[in-house]
Formats: sequence, C-alpha cells, structure tokens
Amino acid sequence: MQLIDRYHRKFEYLRLSITDECNFKCNYCLPDGYERTHQKQFLSQHEIGNLINAFAELGTTKVRITGGEPSLRRDFSKIISQIAETNAIQKVVTTTNGFNLSKHAVEWFDAGLKSINVSVDSLDANTFNLITGKNIFHKVMEGVDACVAAGFEQVKVNSVLMKGLNDHDLTTFLSWIKRNPIQLRFIELMRTEDNADFFNKYHLSGQAIKALLLKQQWLPKIRHVNDGPAEVFTHPDYLGEIGLIMPYSKDFCDNCNRLRVSAVGRLHLCLFGEEGVDLRHLLQKSSDKEQLKETILASLQEKKSSHFLDLGLSGGTPHLASIGG
Ligand code: SAM
Ligand code: SF4
Repeated sequence: MQLIDRYHRKFEYLRLSITDECNFKCNYCLPDGYERTHQKQFLSQHEIGNLINAFAELGTTKVRITGGEPSLRRDFSKIISQIAETNAIQKVVTTTNGFNLSKHAVEWFDAGLKSINVSVDSLDANTFNLITGKNIFHKVMEGVDACVAAGFEQVKVNSVLMKGLNDHDLTTFLSWIKRNPIQLRFIELMRTEDNADFFNKYHLSGQAIKALLLKQQWLPKIRHVNDGPAEVFTHPDYLGEIGLIMPYSKDFCDNCNRLRVSAVGRLHLCLFGEEGVDLRHLLQKSSDKEQLKETILASLQEKKSSHFLDLGLSGGTPHLASIGG
C-alpha cells in the first residue's frame, strides 16, 4: 500500500502538528498571540505512536514535527525519539521559532532529530522584534549556531520576506550565508482567512526574488522527483544555499509531496481549503491500524490538483499555526 493520489503524486512526507499553542506573535500568523478559545487536548504520545506506525506502513519515511511552537510541549524530546525509533521512518525534522533552541539543540539532536528549520524573519534585532513580538533575536541566533555545532545534517532558516517590512534584509541575509552552511528558505507570504488585509499590504512575489537571484548568478539546483515544492539555488562563492517557496507560482502543487495531521488528529490534504478528516477515534487502539490506513488512503483520493490560491481563495485555514505550516 502506498500513498499515491489521482494525479500520481507520491506522499512519503508527513507534517505532524503536536500543538496549536505559540509564544510568539508573528504579525502574519498570530498578531494578537495565541488565544486559547477552549481546552484542547493535543495528541498524546500513545496516539502519535499509533498514527506514525500507520503512516510508516503506508510508505512515509520523513516526519516533520511542527505547530504552533512544537518545543512548547514538555515531552518534545520524547516525541522526537519515539518517531525516530519507528521502523521505516528515516528522517525526523522540525520547524521551530528557536526560542528554546540554544538550551536544547544537543538534547534534540541526541533524541534523533536529523535536521532543523528555524524561523528568523530578520537579521536585524529591531525588525525581528517588530515582526515576531519577541525581543530575543540574539538568543535565537545562538540557537542557530548551537544547531550547526551539534552536527545536524542540515540547518535551514525560514524567512517570510515582506514588502517594506524586511525585504531590505535580503542583502544582509545573502552576506550571512556566504560563510555559513545554512539553507535560507524564503517563504512567500501566504494569505489565510485571518490575514487578508496584512497580505494585501505586504505580499512580495517570490518570482521577483527569483529574478533578482538569477541576476546575481545564483544557479537553480537540479530537482528530483520527490524534492517537494522548494526551488533551490546555489552560488560558487557561497557556503549556504537558498530555497524559494513560492505557493503562488504556477505548477507549485504539481510537486506536492506532503500530508498534514493537526494537533487534534485531523488529516489535512492541503494547507488550505478543507476542514480535514478526523482520525482521532482510530488512534486509540493499535488494533485499529488497518482501518486507520484505509481511511487515510481513501481520503487521499479526494486530494485536489491545486490549492487555487491564485484565484484569490484562502481556504478555510485561519492561520498556519492552526494546522502546522
Ligand atoms: N512556530 C514554528 C515556527 O514559526 O517556525 C513552527 C510553525 S510555523 C506555522 C511554520 C512556518 O510557517 C514558519 O516558518 C512561519 O514563518 C511560516 N508561516 C506562518 N504563517 C505564514 C504565512 N501566512 N505565510 C507564509 N509563511 C507562514
Ligand atoms: Fe508562532 Fe510560528 Fe506562527 Fe510565528 S509563525 S506566530 S512562531 S506559529
């Protein structure tokens, strides 16, 4: 059994959210901070175990643990090792805002984390504070350094470039990766249900950044079938490389290779546009594994060819913290 949809896309990559909660107030995501509207019970280690076993038997080899802020969970290291020890899972990675990183990088590495994405929207401490609502730029950067020192296979830095807010940081970012072996990932600002006005004001086209890189002799890396939607660029004078995530570009969804499960156990076939399929009742007993696998396989056949964001749709996702960006 394999996770292949009607458009022949293969899904070996699962993004698992383990909490909605976050301690940052990124202006494009949770500008007013995380609001606990009701007491949510996030997936337990037991439920995560049953979920990952089923996905592993369906061909999943890579799991990204995300959120909200995944490191807010006290059992984060245990969740990493639990997933890393699952048969057939070759790679466990995470995306974090980095506030806890300098203290825990080695612990997470020892638990089995292979690579890490840290969100850093600016290399200027004031702009970082302005965007995230947290005046801890230097602490986050210490965390990035701690990851490089700990020996992660790959350390990536995610940055959402926005018009007039941090796009002037591009030159600083480029000089930074000249001597640092970091993959810098520029994520084009995505419109969600909650951020329409913000999006209209600050959205910067990824294609414009691509044109600029090509002008500066950055070279597109050859893509492999299951590489996912990022376009990666290298430059002979730079130790680091650049990944561009351009969800508004034509054909972006053709390379989709990921499925998502939210922190309350709903399967999301796309970051945008649907409410998700409840899997939680099938995560309670390991004896429900076959039914769980059949439900996942049947749901996958409903996956659409595209998110249709280019038609102005934002789907039903209030913000990316809600299902794990
Ligand atoms: N809290 C963690 C963090 O920020 O790294 C993990 C979750 S966060 C939702 C994952 C990634 O999604 C971050 O790199 C963040 O910058 C990005 N993101 C959130 N909202 C976005 C939006 N509307 N458009 C583009 N990227 C977004
Ligand atoms: Fe929190 Fe990440 Fe959203 Fe920023 S992008 S508010 S760190 S979940």
